[in-house]
Amino acid sequence: MEKLIYLDNAATTKTAPEVLEAMLPYFTENYGNPSSVYGFASKNKNMVNCQREIIADALGAKPEEIYFTAGGSEADNWALKAAAEAYEGKGNHIITTKIEHHAILHTGEYLEKRGFKVTYLDVDEDGMVSLEELKKAIRPETILISVMYANNEIGTIEPVKEIGEIAHERGILFHTDAVQAFGQVPIHVDECHIDMLSASGHKLNGPKGIGFLYIRKGVKIRSFIHGGAQERKRRAGTENVPGIIGLGAAVSRAVRTMEERTAKEKELRDYLIDRVLEEIPYCRLNGHRTKRLPNNANFSFQFIEGESLLIRLDMKGICGSSGSACTSGSLDPSHVLLAIGLPHETAHGSLRLTLGEDTVKEDIDYVVEALKEIVAGLREMSPLYEDFIKKN
Ligand SMILES: *Cc1c(COP(=O)(O)O)cnc(C)c1O
Repeated sequence: MEKLIYLDNAATTKTAPEVLEAMLPYFTENYGNPSSVYGFASKNKNMVNCQREIIADALGAKPEEIYFTAGGSEADNWALKAAAEAYEGKGNHIITTKIEHHAILHTGEYLEKRGFKVTYLDVDEDGMVSLEELKKAIRPETILISVMYANNEIGTIEPVKEIGEIAHERGILFHTDAVQAFGQVPIHVDECHIDMLSASGHKLNGPKGIGFLYIRKGVKIRSFIHGGAQERKRRAGTENVPGIIGLGAAVSRAVRTMEERTAKEKELRDYLIDRVLEEIPYCRLNGHRTKRLPNNANFSFQFIEGESLLIRLDMKGICGSSGSACTSGSLDPSHVLLAIGLPHETAHGSLRLTLGEDTVKEDIDYVVEALKEIVAGLREMSPLYEDFIKKN
């Protein structure tokens, strides 16, 4: 097989073999509709509820607070749209940040068109939300604060517990997009006063097209899909049984392996970061140095284009990303990199490498050597670099 070094685990992960194995019988032998009465199918209802328990346990939540969705984007849409509608009588103001995933940002824009007011908080140069700025942004009509647990591009982990406390003290709902953080860092919804939380299967070695929204008991929220009585009538549609089984298997696996896996990833991440910063000139690390996801490294290389870098890495069998998967293909630099104050040119020369559970030190060594060669080669062709060298 051709060489493949997959360092784009923030975009998606490989479904773990044991997860797939758990799912398979639910496509074939156990195909019953969980809503049917006979034992053959109602066994599947029990299995679905078992997965709810596994997920709830992982968050310190109750099983009936877990609602399955078709992924992270749906959970984000649901949280914002349905909470906005349900609390419209109380106020029309929502606070979020400039570095959210587009599933939040574009939903925010949609709500603005429907008459809601949305504040998009700035972040500092590490991508951190300021608690002071957050407090200042709160108005009497604020109904919801949505701040991501950890950023998908630069890996910065937000002060979620403190944000939750601020929201809780003022009786404002707190939603967090934990799609990147869930399975990577321990999360407890009560300790952090989280009222709603989004997560997705394919970011934690589970299948694509399945995720969940945690909704704290007592939170008023509108149904997202109208139809049958599934998911306590809030999200109709025959359950994606194989997906749910896969999600549950992925979550219990992620919880079981978290400590060892993330310790190993952190070590390799730091090795990668140290080597790149030391061995490649005119380069910077984006995101917080320590408060960051165990598997995330994000660099900016001066004088080069991230897209050219990606193509050359691909030729060497290395998968990475510049900006986020959803924005590549467009020429706009990532909104996250601009929000942390990078000039356009620097934001354009960025590369995100996100490690996975299979990543080994030899992969990192290979990638660093490839990067050194490619970056030097691209700079040799760069008029900007030529000017810079002449001036210095
Ligand atoms: C991937 C991602 C999403 C979207 O999840 P899907 O399951 O792909 O819809 C939302 N938020 C963040 C932070 C993500 O990384």
